[in-house]
Amino acid sequence: MCGIIGIVSNKSVSTNIINSLKKLEYRGYDSAGLATISDGKINEKKCPGRVEKLEKILFQTPSRGNLGIGHVRWATHGVPNEVNAHPHSSEIVSVVHNGIIENSDELKKELEKSGKTFKSQTDTEVITVLLTEKLKKLEPLKAVFETLETLKGSFALGIIFKEFEDFIIGARRGSPLAVGYSNSENYLGSDSYALKSMTNKISYLDDGDVCVLSKDDVKFYNSNKDKINKEIFTLSEDKSSVSKGNYKSFMIKEIFEQPNTTKTCLKEYIDKIREEINFYNLPVDPKKINKVVLIGCGTAYHSCLVAKYWLEELTTLNVEADIASEFRYRKVKFDINNLYIFVSQSGETADTYAALDLCKKENAKTCSVVNVVESSIARHSDCVLPIHAGPEIGVASTKAFLGQMLVLYLLSLKISEIRNDIEHKEYKKKIGELKKIPKLIAESLKEEEKIQLIAKDIYKSKGSMFLGRGSSFPIALEGALKLKELSYLHAEGYPAGEMKHGPLALIEDGLPVVVIAPKDKYFEKTLSNMQEVIARGGKVLLLTNSSSKVISENIRFQINLPDADLTLTPFLFTIPLQLLSYHVAMFKKCDIDKPRNLAKSVTVE
Ligand code: GLU
Repeated sequence: MCGIIGIVSNKSVSTNIINSLKKLEYRGYDSAGLATISDGKINEKKCPGRVEKLEKILFQTPSRGNLGIGHVRWATHGVPNEVNAHPHSSEIVSVVHNGIIENSDELKKELEKSGKTFKSQTDTEVITVLLTEKLKKLEPLKAVFETLETLKGSFALGIIFKEFEDFIIGARRGSPLAVGYSNSENYLGSDSYALKSMTNKISYLDDGDVCVLSKDDVKFYNSNKDKINKEIFTLSEDKSSVSKGNYKSFMIKEIFEQPNTTKTCLKEYIDKIREEINFYNLPVDPKKINKVVLIGCGTAYHSCLVAKYWLEELTTLNVEADIASEFRYRKVKFDINNLYIFVSQSGETADTYAALDLCKKENAKTCSVVNVVESSIARHSDCVLPIHAGPEIGVASTKAFLGQMLVLYLLSLKISEIRNDIEHKEYKKKIGELKKIPKLIAESLKEEEKIQLIAKDIYKSKGSMFLGRGSSFPIALEGALKLKELSYLHAEGYPAGEMKHGPLALIEDGLPVVVIAPKDKYFEKTLSNMQEVIARGGKVLLLTNSSSKVISENIRFQINLPDADLTLTPFLFTIPLQLLSYHVAMFKKCDIDKPRNLAKSVTVE
């Protein structure tokens, strides 16, 4: 997680460091800091809290210097306070770090034995102390290489040296790091988004790479210390703006963007003239696929689960959905004819990337569904399927979830067609239905006012449950996750049919229970489960289709969503759940775009 920025220039850098840190804040926001070098001194400033606070400190006591590093933290070792905030500096060197040094305890003990002392509780400070020692006899690049050899774990690093006011060293193992180029100015950044306002020319470090940035030049080295050349990418222009506009938060803006983002995505994948889904370069012939394995974390994992239902419904394939942090450590049996699909909004999710890496080592066929096409996961998979949602800033994912589902649905349908698992007429009909999604989402959004009233009624509850069957089960999981993330209200997502095997014991008078019951083949069964909840005092919010005509005076709230092709219900039923979590969080006065303890791009294990 966390954000790193480094700038080396022919002019003062602190203002641009602060501006970049504001852009990186979505990655981590429990503390912030920066260090510049001027007049032969390291000027370090840091504080717990947001970048705004750091900016105020700088306003009162400006930091001069034409070279500097900045950091927004998502603590892994040590509470978020000023001492633990990055950079971690000694007299002669200053370090910002993204990731975890897994052997920091051992290293710390050894260093303490030889009389070294530590100021912070972080794993990062061992790097500072090691470098400080090595710099007594080695020049900076050698000292960095030697230090890296002793480190276990994952990291992206930005390092500056008191004696050298003209270069920054960057290093990557596991955590992403990019370099940006401009005139008389070069940059280091944990993602291209932070660098975009300054440049559109970017290179990416691969695992083991080290770079040395001066204002007019960038040198790259691989882990064997050999000098290497890097490809320079030109970043695509972002059409969608990354400001909140008139919205109160990015999240609500992103929720209301969904009719447009789904429309854009459909345009990218459906050929207007032939009415055909276009997928190029799939790494395995769909006719020869043995099994599809979908892998993701959090919300992205939920989109994998929905896709499992779709692929099973539409094709004759075996399908598995897996959580990346579990997949990567299990004794998985790989098969050259399996298709492994990796889903991640940022394309930098550490666990998902590690699972992809494992597949690559086994020569497995990989494909990624990402929002950031320049990301590590996109660059390392055999085929990339972008979701075209535009930058998502709110930490709790909304439009990216719909985008992931949409691409996975298009892929399921296409695989089904190529394998002749679906009749051509039915395939064409489903494409026609798909094109209605943006309009159906827009209609579902009209329920906002009603949902706000429901949120007002339930926001003081001590817990909640979300139930569904079939593809509505992962939607229930996602609804519960969104509520947890946004409002810190305990929420359980469960398959409705599983309630009687334990969770029914949680139902008590007034407990809010969201029942997701589209008019599909599970409808009657889900309603029976709902009645079991009502009989035990649960306060039910029923989400169903307009045509289902359920009338029961015991249902506390009911939202009727537009009728649509049944395979599409996950798209529509997600909307009220997003709005519910948003409004509950608003009533609870939570930080909508930056929920506590979380970060957007999860680049630690
Ligand atoms: N492990 C480091 C710390 O806890 C870096 C965390 C981060 O990536 O922000 O300070």
